Amino acid sequence: MKGASFNTLEMKAPAAMKGMNFRIQVGIMDCLGCGNCVDVCPGNPKAGGKALEMKSLESQSKEAGNWDYCAKNVKSKQSLVDIQANVKNSQFATPLFEFSGACSGCGETPYVKLVSQLFGDRQMIANATGCTSIYSGSVPSTPYTKNENGEGPAWANSLFEDFCEFGLGMELANKKMVERIKAAMLKGQSCTCCSDELKGFCGMKS
Ligand code: SF4
Repeated sequence: MKGASFNTLEMKAPAAMKGMNFRIQVGIMDCLGCGNCVDVCPGNPKAGGKALEMKSLESQSKEAGNWDYCAKNVKSKQSLVDIQANVKNSQFATPLFEFSGACSGCGETPYVKLVSQLFGDRQMIANATGCTSIYSGSVPSTPYTKNENGEGPAWANSLFEDFCEFGLGMELANKKMVERIKAAMLKGQSCTCCSDELKGFCGMKS
């Protein structure tokens, strides 16, 4: 692989990924040094235990190029598995929340990332004010991002405890817009100026 220098493991499961290779690549320039991954990953006790250890940033400089290689060349594989079937499969889904400005080792952001993997660009977030609104709305940047189709979650923040009403408003507005689109499409069924091609495209042609 030109531009990359790393080891991978052969995929044995899920079946749809047999023949592929697996690697978890740390982005060293974004690592905050919390050590959570080292604490949590058990490694293989039969092969010496811990899989990870913290090392100085300088000693890991080649990993920056490996990260760039993976970010540029490795495409999402989420279409190969049912990402909602189990925890393992969910981690093949592309996260649409990444590189937040939360404190190092924040225990909340992995859950926010997981929700973005489960619901992707269908997610609408009515964010109460607090840590989540600060690290999610640090203008001009946001950790919410887009998938390969350029689509991502919709996010907005409302003041403190008002997020329930705020979220209800988003839901009602969404329903109203769907109803309006549906009504316009049904009206188009009897329209004499819409072409058959357009009616077919909108599922309106009988
Ligand atoms: S869990 Fe912490 S130490 Fe591990 S890569 Fe992420 S920020 Fe770095």
